[in-house]
Order: sequence, then structure tokens, then C-alpha cells
Amino acid sequence: MLVSVPELPEVETTRRAIAPVLEGRRLVAVDVRRDRMARRNERPIDVVERLTGRRVGVVGRIGKFIVADVEGDFRWVMHLGMSGRMELSQPGDPETAHTNFVALTDSGIELRFVDPRTFGFVAVFTSEELAASPMAQLGRDALDDLPSVKDFMARFHGRSASIKALVLDQRIVAGIGNIYADEILFRARVKPTRAAGSLSEREITAVREAVVPVLEEGLAHGGTSLGDLAYLLPDGRAGTYFGHLAVYGRAGEACRQCGSMIERVVVAQRSAHYCPQCQL
Ligand SMILES: [Zn+2]
Repeated sequence: MLVSVPELPEVETTRRAIAPVLEGRRLVAVDVRRDRMARRNERPIDVVERLTGRRVGVVGRIGKFIVADVEGDFRWVMHLGMSGRMELSQPGDPETAHTNFVALTDSGIELRFVDPRTFGFVAVFTSEELAASPMAQLGRDALDDLPSVKDFMARFHGRSASIKALVLDQRIVAGIGNIYADEILFRARVKPTRAAGSLSEREITAVREAVVPVLEEGLAHGGTSLGDLAYLLPDGRAGTYFGHLAVYGRAGEACRQCGSMIERVVVAQRSAHYCPQCQL
């Protein structure tokens, strides 16, 4: 079965839903139900102590991480991991199984973080802790701050790693995962197995120019929910981009542009889907 892992469009869809509920509100009760959810802090209790009673500022995003400013110069980081999603509820509403983190705002709305596999996390960092965390290694955001063609050429130069692996490398550009990488490379007409260093300037330009339109298209559909329904919007609806995917999850089906059969290969330990006719 295809497993949906939240990528930039799913995280940004989530951010846009929760930001208006959190921004400017004070958190009156915070509950970490599983210590594992707060594992990125030295002491899980720090998450509770640093959020409770404090006002939330701007709720932003870098790559697949939601990052909110919190009074007292803290950064509240939320990562959906493999199977996480957010819900907005009223206290007393029936709880979804695996609700591992709950924050109640002074407007009476609860943010609930549901994560069956707990690969996601919630962390509250000081600026120093954030600078020392793996997040400091993140590249620029794929949607808001896409690197230039020159930057990409410098990063790809001489690399024998596949273009798919480098598009997935969060240190180069942050936010793209398996689904959108395949869609971006289809739109750019570049095979995912190509060595990154073998791409011409024209091809690198095509890859770069495919990034934002593909992510925007995913966003316009509320992201991609697959059969497992691990990812849902905070209001419980499914993201509907799946039906519009050109190659991801379509091995053996006809390419919508040329009719050839979409193929699946393993690249960088991940499945990659592509059209052998449209992509060179
Ligand atoms: Zn094709």
C-alpha cells in the first residue's frame, strides 16, 4: 500500500489552518501524552513549561517543519513525521486514537496532534538550541525561498548521486519528499535515475521551474491523502491531489501525456515513478 508522508503542501495546508487559531492566542493548557513526542527537547517537560501561559506569535514554516514564535523568545517546532496530522477541536470533543499532544488556547480551541507512529514531534527551543539542532542544516524553503539556477548548478556539479536523491536532500532545498519529487521531475522531463552532475543548465532550469508550480498545485488540492488516510486536513477532510498526480503511484498505468506505461524503480532507497518516453 502507498503510505502518505506529509511533504511541503500537506504541512503548509496544515499551517494555514492552524495559524489563525494560534496566532496572538495564549496557551492555557499543554499536555504531552507521550514523552516520545517531545524527544527533541532535553527534558520533555520543557515543552509543557515553555508553552503554558505564553502567547503565540507568527506561525511560519521551513520545509516540512511548522515553526511558531512563542513569547519569551522560544521557537515552537512541529513536525508531522510519517503519519502525523493536526486536529482543531473543542475541549470535550471525542478524541481520535493516538492523540499524543494537546494545546488549549485562551479562545477555547484545542490543537490536537494525532500521530499513530510517533515519528512526528513537538519541540520548544531557545534560539541557541535551535541553532544547535539538525534544523539548522535545512536548506532554503522550496516554496518561499527557492534557490537560483546558479545555486542548483553549484550543488549538482560533479555529483554522481541521482537527481532524485538531491531533490529529496533537505540540506539543498527543504520541503520536497517522495511524491512531489517524482511529480517535479516528470514536469521537468528528467529521469529520476540520472546522475545530478549530468544535467545540463537547461535541464536544471527545468527542474527548478517545476518546483513551485507542482507544490502550488498540491496546495490548491489541500495536499495528497492516500489510501491509508494518515494525512488529513485539520478539519478532517482528505487532500485531493492524488487523483491529479502524473506519475507517483501510477506504475503500470498510462502516461497522461504520451500513453506510455509509467515505470517504477528504486532510487536512493525510495520508489521513483517516471515516464520512460517523456523523461530523458
Ligand atoms: Zn509520457
